[in-house]
Amino acid sequence: MSGVEVRAVSKRYGAASVLDAVDARFPEGRFTSLLGPSGSGKTTLLRIIGGFVAPDGGRVVIGGADVTAVPLWKRRIGMVFQSYALFPHMTVAQNVAYGLNRRGIRGAAARAEVGRALELVHLTGFDARRPKQLSGGQQQRVALARAIVTKPRVLLLDEPLSALDRRLRQNMQIELKRIQRESGLTTIFVTHDQEEALTLSDTVAILDRGRIVQEGAPADIYEHPRTSFAAAFLGDANFFRGTVRGEAIDTPAGPIRIAGALPAPGTAVTVAVRPEKMTLLSAGPDPAGNVIDATLREIIYAGAVSTFLLTGSDGAEIKVLSQNRDLAGPAPGARVRLAWAPAHTVLLAD
Ligand code: ADP
Ligand code: MG
Repeated sequence: MSGVEVRAVSKRYGAASVLDAVDARFPEGRFTSLLGPSGSGKTTLLRIIGGFVAPDGGRVVIGGADVTAVPLWKRRIGMVFQSYALFPHMTVAQNVAYGLNRRGIRGAAARAEVGRALELVHLTGFDARRPKQLSGGQQQRVALARAIVTKPRVLLLDEPLSALDRRLRQNMQIELKRIQRESGLTTIFVTHDQEEALTLSDTVAILDRGRIVQEGAPADIYEHPRTSFAAAFLGDANFFRGTVRGEAIDTPAGPIRIAGALPAPGTAVTVAVRPEKMTLLSAGPDPAGNVIDATLREIIYAGAVSTFLLTGSDGAEIKVLSQNRDLAGPAPGARVRLAWAPAHTVLLAD
């Protein structure tokens, strides 16, 4: 049993509230990302779970047992910090063995465990090197081996890939996912990178100014963001504000329909539409669903896809993402129509 739960966890530094009664569940054996902008309290929450920082209020529960008062060395947590924090004067094997030695495991028993951990991170044969003789990605894998060698119940990762360049980061994402799968460790992964959170996680929890604002499977929170913060932070979104009138929402860009039930007539609402859900029409009859007029301003070509920047009839910017099956299409300055399905219109709670 190694699921993690935080219940009404609060933390202040001086007058500033960093975490405000945070409730969250990190299921056993799953990979959960804690996603939020810089300063939203991710590191603080992770350190409270690990026992490095005490909360002002609330409880931390691991495997069903309240560990709020349990010191960090008894929590059986493995942690990887953003800076790898390897011991520079020690070899790879000594770095990885550090936690074992502190628990009194030495000699052949320790060597066997270190060997297994290095094998898991694909660093067999690197035992005698020192950190400065390794690449950034290899150092990160040593830090990971050091965190898992003691067989923790929970693995805490604080932006472990952010210091790596793009290509290496992508390789390490795949590695991390494999290691998590093979080890079956309950993993909490802190990141401010939405793409990383979407690709790696079973579950994503979005943190905004010390509160979890949404939690769910990646596709679920991407397709159905609850607030404009979640919609904008997790990818791109076009927002439309308007008032419910009859069957549609009356917005300055035109009437917009949603698939579900609308609030009462007269209610002011905001909806979001992802850029890849919209289609650019230049000729032909209007399709069913939502259609609004727009003017094409700019096309940003990026190989597989292009981003179209448009302005709606109200002057607001609209972004459309389109796959480049062929490059024939309207040019900047053209008057076009934008179409999308009512089911792709997300009614936001704020
Ligand atoms: P994140 O990891 O999401 O970037 P942090 O948890 O590191 O956020 O920090 C959240 C807020 O708490 C920030 O405003 C930060 O300045 C503040 N903070 C974090 N640790 C301390 C500390 N030890 N003393 C004072 N303020 C802190
Ligand atoms: Mg942080």
